[in-house]
Amino acid sequence: MQYNLEIFSPVQPWQHPLFAEKGLNVFIKRDDMIHPLISGNKWRKLKHTLIKAQLLGKTHLVTFGGAYSNHLLATASAAAKFGLASTGFVRGEEVQNDTLFLCRLHGMNLIFTDREAYRNKSLLFEQHFGNDTSAYFIDEGGASPEAVKGCAELVPELPICYDHFFCACGTGTTAAGIITGLHQHQLPTHFHAIPVLKGGGFIRHDINDYLNFEYPYSLHTDYHFGGYAKTTPELLSFIKTFVQSTGILIEPIYTGKMLYAILDLASKDKFAPGSNILAVHSGGMIGLLGMKEKF
Ligand SMILES: *Cc1c(COP(=O)(O)O)cnc(C)c1O
Repeated sequence: MQYNLEIFSPVQPWQHPLFAEKGLNVFIKRDDMIHPLISGNKWRKLKHTLIKAQLLGKTHLVTFGGAYSNHLLATASAAAKFGLASTGFVRGEEVQNDTLFLCRLHGMNLIFTDREAYRNKSLLFEQHFGNDTSAYFIDEGGASPEAVKGCAELVPELPICYDHFFCACGTGTTAAGIITGLHQHQLPTHFHAIPVLKGGGFIRHDINDYLNFEYPYSLHTDYHFGGYAKTTPELLSFIKTFVQSTGILIEPIYTGKMLYAILDLASKDKFAPGSNILAVHSGGMIGLLGMKEKF
């Protein structure tokens, strides 16, 4: 069976009075529209992994994540879509939430794993699936050279050449992919990464590890809002205003922080008038449901 890997991810304008005042054209690449659960960058990150698994005759995807992992859910959904089995090792003690419910509903077998054992993922895989030739190891967050290749494919989809390109970073794999795409196509676009973790400077090392060329880009480490999955009233208020004025749903873990950064940098005159700026909406809508009590 050949997988149908066609996707739809339009570019739409983000209108805001500040951008009009500063003469900026800001756009959003709607990777969140690729699929409701194999959301945004997770689809791009899984694409070549799925192709490789199929080539190797693997029929059981085995992966890893926290209890709110968008990657676990994306893998469960992709496995169901393509007729594969799936297992997810979940970090920590057994819990219930919307993400894990949807993983189970898609047939994923969940194995809750204490934090100590979770650290050694290849050992866990070996212990549970060492004799299972159908099982295929996919690292936490889908991080792999295949994932970088999939994310690089975003670049030739772009309708124009942008002056600035923004992306939220967890592991930095998506950022490495986009940089690879910009480099391959020799675009003069300046890339900006927004780490969502506190002290995200280490991401530069993780991104550069994937690149076999020198590439200048900006890393803005001041937009973590306290750390991973942390929020502030200011961030939540930005998100409410954004959703209500654009009709585009965003969440506070990744895309909310990155879009906030663009508005903040624009207010500080960091972009030349007339600049075309692109932000990628990397999805993650089920994670939003896990944060509803914060709003
Ligand atoms: C996983 C995820 C990211 C982070 O992607 P990395 O490749 O790990 O940097 C960004 N946005 C959303 C919505 C995600 O689910």
